[in-house]
Amino acid sequence: MAEDSDRDEPPSAMVTVEADGELGPAPSLSMGSFSMEGRVEVIVGSMFSGKTEELIRRVKRALFARQTIQAFKPRIDNRYDATRIVSHGEIAIDAVAVATSESLLKRVQESTQVVAVDEAQFFDRGIVDVADRLANSGRRVILAGLDQDYMGRPFPPMPELMAIAEDVMKVRAVCSVCGADASRSQRLLPDAGTVLVGGADKYEARCRRCFRARDVLPSPDGSDETT
Ligand code: ADP
Ligand code: MG
Ligand code: ZN
Repeated sequence: MAEDSDRDEPPSAMVTVEADGELGPAPSLSMGSFSMEGRVEVIVGSMFSGKTEELIRRVKRALFARQTIQAFKPRIDNRYDATRIVSHGEIAIDAVAVATSESLLKRVQESTQVVAVDEAQFFDRGIVDVADRLANSGRRVILAGLDQDYMGRPFPPMPELMAIAEDVMKVRAVCSVCGADASRSQRLLPDAGTVLVGGADKYEARCRRCFRARDVLPSPDGSDETT
């Protein structure tokens, strides 16, 4: 993701329950901004494991608690709507698509108490520091993402995010082959060198026994980039 091309996003795309009208200027991340204790929560699992549903569930609970929320997703993920986070079960919340972790940080409003991030595995490694800074400023940061790529390898920056998190939840899908709990994302297309964003047409959930990383051949240029 070379440049930040998200400046034209309308502010109305943010999920907000505003306590006192106007949104503030750029975020002040000084300590003690909120009485809330800051923390990082991470939700990981394979595709179709319910990460997005769990993220949306937490956001909706926070909205019931009248907290101020902003939801983000990486700009690379435009499967459905660039300004919404949508689960495979079609549950959705409004979100802002951002190109980089730096852009995400810049967009966090001073009044925001909860920052939700979906598809966190598609962010640059700066997202780890951004999550840390937001939590240090008293905010609750909830990030959902794939813990493994299509080869079953740890998917940066999720391992680092899990390490700095106060709370990690690992959710599981149902294996498409045998029905057991599934922890891996099986890519169904053999020749897809670069980042391959997709849903049930390109991936299915598999358990450890049914997962076949070797089914996927390296692309001719030698790159073996992840989902
Ligand atoms: P994730 O964000 O982890 O990819 P979602 O939260 O978007 O997952 O979607 C989870 C939903 O996907 C489930 O509630 C279910 O309706 C649907 N689903 C489709 N295939 C599977 C599967 N193999 N195992 C579990 N849920 C599945
Ligand atoms: Mg998801
Ligand atoms: Zn299986």
